[in-house]
Amino acid sequence: THVAAPADLCVQPIARVGDPLSAVDTPALVLDLDAFEDNLRTMQVLAERHGVELRPHAKAHRCPEISLRQLALGAVGICCQKVTEVIPFIAAGIRNIHISNEVVGAQKLALLARLAKQAQITVCVDDARAAQELSDAMLAEKASVGVLVEIDVGQKRCGVQSPEELVALAQLVERLPQVCFAGIQAYHGGLQHKRSLEQRQKSWDKAVKLIRKHLQALEQAGIACPVVTGGGTGTAAFDVKSDVFTEIQAGTYAFMDTDYGGIDWDDTLAFRHSLFLLATVMSAPSPDRAVLDVGLKSTTAESGMPGLVGYEGVRCVAVNDEHSMLSIDEGAQGPRLGDKVRLIPGHCDPTFNLHDCVVAMRGDRVEAVWPISARGMSR
Ligand code: PLP
Ligand code: MN
Repeated sequence: THVAAPADLCVQPIARVGDPLSAVDTPALVLDLDAFEDNLRTMQVLAERHGVELRPHAKAHRCPEISLRQLALGAVGICCQKVTEVIPFIAAGIRNIHISNEVVGAQKLALLARLAKQAQITVCVDDARAAQELSDAMLAEKASVGVLVEIDVGQKRCGVQSPEELVALAQLVERLPQVCFAGIQAYHGGLQHKRSLEQRQKSWDKAVKLIRKHLQALEQAGIACPVVTGGGTGTAAFDVKSDVFTEIQAGTYAFMDTDYGGIDWDDTLAFRHSLFLLATVMSAPSPDRAVLDVGLKSTTAESGMPGLVGYEGVRCVAVNDEHSMLSIDEGAQGPRLGDKVRLIPGHCDPTFNLHDCVVAMRGDRVEAVWPISARGMSR
């Protein structure tokens, strides 16, 4: 049975509006609003200049307040990756959502149908039986969704494997009730983090050739393809200039992380780090080491160590469950016991998912604390 904690033992808020950064409790995810807003504008302007829609990915942050700001700047809608993840975004009033992923299973399809009665939703399909089951689920709720057939452009993840399969699936979708063929999704995650611009562009060229083949097959079959969606932060500069994409799905650009920070960028497209993990030095047991109060429960490490901001000759070398170790070079000045430091997360998407809220800072002042409402919503 559940026993409520006495009122005076409640966890206090991580920060209050008006607080300086030094008063924010740790571990905390903090957002530099000036850099964040710059990033939003940069991508929106890029998309508009080339006549491409921006549909930012919400899986990067799972925070409706962030999506609302992207929409206010002109984004056409948002992407989600999971069905339950959509719920808080609809609750926040967002009505144009693409689920950039396949949805398989009766419970998920039933939820999708209920959501589709609240908002305009599109979803990816790459299989005839899945299309049939999607149509059945929509029929049961008298709901309808748009279908974007996913094509595999080299990532070897989901997606139909040939233009012929695409045409057959599009025709099936057109025949089935309560679903309509809305276009294709062509996302290639493997391209996004390729380090050299030249390499990225080369592999991207190959993927775009493949997209064109699929579009030609649809055209020959007399099937209109209003939407071609895909792309991400790493390829956005190419995606917008291509003649294939009608919209791009970038997510990380709003925040950046060390993963994306480590690749080469075109000078014309510079996104700033806006997302930081605030940590406290909880132990400084020797001159060459400081220990932070953040670990794998506050940041993921699959993309490498988080980056430390503002210290020469000091870097994060290990992340345990609840500790991170800073190694301090001889002669370098590391942070002292009790100091707060900022880390750049290795990978923003799974890091957001570890936090209840993000502390939005304007300079050194807390402007708001935004709940990460879709945290944990991975079903
Ligand atoms: N679209 C899809 C289908 C994705 O899986 C991802 C990220 O993994 C994105 C878009 C967004 O990419 P990024 O956050 O790298 O901009
Ligand atoms: Mn990612």
